[in-house]
Amino acid sequence: MRAPLKPLDQALAELLAQARPLAGEDSVDCFEADGRVLRQDAVSPLQVPPQDNSAMDGYAVRAAECHSGEAVLPLSQRIPAGSVGQPLEPGTVARIFTGAPVPQGADAVVMQEDCELLDDGRVRIKARPESGQWIRRAGEDIQLGATVIAAGTRLAPAELGLAASIGLARLAVAPRPRVALFSTGDELVMPGTVAPEHMPAGSIYNSNRFFLRALLERMGCEVTDFGIVPDRREATLAALREAAGSHDLILTSGGVSVGEEDHVKPAVEALGQLDLWQIAVKPGKPFAYGRVNRDGQQGAGFAHFIGLPGNPVSSYVTFLLLVRPFVLRLQGAARTAPRALPMRADFDWPRGDKRREFLRVRINDQGGLELFRNQSSGVLTSAAWGDGVIDNPAGQTIARGDRVQFISFAELLS
Ligand code: AMP
Ligand code: MG
Repeated sequence: MRAPLKPLDQALAELLAQARPLAGEDSVDCFEADGRVLRQDAVSPLQVPPQDNSAMDGYAVRAAECHSGEAVLPLSQRIPAGSVGQPLEPGTVARIFTGAPVPQGADAVVMQEDCELLDDGRVRIKARPESGQWIRRAGEDIQLGATVIAAGTRLAPAELGLAASIGLARLAVAPRPRVALFSTGDELVMPGTVAPEHMPAGSIYNSNRFFLRALLERMGCEVTDFGIVPDRREATLAALREAAGSHDLILTSGGVSVGEEDHVKPAVEALGQLDLWQIAVKPGKPFAYGRVNRDGQQGAGFAHFIGLPGNPVSSYVTFLLLVRPFVLRLQGAARTAPRALPMRADFDWPRGDKRREFLRVRINDQGGLELFRNQSSGVLTSAAWGDGVIDNPAGQTIARGDRVQFISFAELLS
């Protein structure tokens, strides 16, 4: 009897339970930290902005002195950004520039467009200022002692700027997972080695290798690409042993289908352990998780092993659904699940599949979702064409106008 299919959520939970965050940390320059996962909370040793400052080029005033809406007051000082002025003398205004500290006594800034510098050097304030206007308050962005970026955050450009704004030049981040990438399949040919017109019958170009390497690198991994592993037992064992010695994860594509004749499955079993899963997901389904012991023995540590299906879209989608969270968790990322947003389907899908399905769709100009015409797991065009996937429950049909759950590739690939 065939084992029942494993629900995707269960597969993900079991997989993540294996993904203990990697030990150690890297100290990296802020310039090099994009995409890395922060190890310790970034706590602010100061407030940002450090003091009340002007949000405009204009004049710092006492609002009460300008209430007529036509006040003419002498200019007592000039405060460019980067310098600190004197307390504002009553009955005068100060020339001030964006970012410059507001002088003591002033409680508003009037933008220069609402002022007129007279020939006698005095300033006409032609607007009636509100107390507090155009002043950025000390600490309004960040308070002293505030956690600015929490441990487990994947750093993006805004976080790098934020870290810099509290004076951090280096950040403690999770080590990059070291991933060994294998392709399997005797039919595979590397582009560039055989011209399209000379491809032998039955052979295809290795496409998975290209997107898997790029996906891993986007997820912060350091990839060693072992290429196409020769389909011989000794060669496969040797490659797995070598990879396990110096990698955290061995990722393969192909050869995990039921009854597949290749050497990866038995070789992983010989060097560690392997579970073959049939996941209730489409595209996808065959998936393997296991371990390859270092030095081929127990107790010396191990490399995780993940075997993805060979069909390109299955490989791509299962990477995004399962491997992505796994490698983020290895880095201690707090958030591994992508956000699903409700969106409108602008198509009909009259036959719900028995498995939970991830349909490749594109956002149209009307804010709805269009379906790619061919959802076959071999048609990689759908992944390039799409803006993301609909997470469609098992058995669910879709009628034009229905709300569906959309997950964006922009998020899955970032
Ligand atoms: P498998 O999972 O090995 O049974 O492969 C399923 C399908 O995916 C077969 O049609 C393979 O030829 C194809 N395939 C496997 N690996 C790759 C690859 N690296 N690039 C493109 N197609 C692949
Ligand atoms: Mg194969």
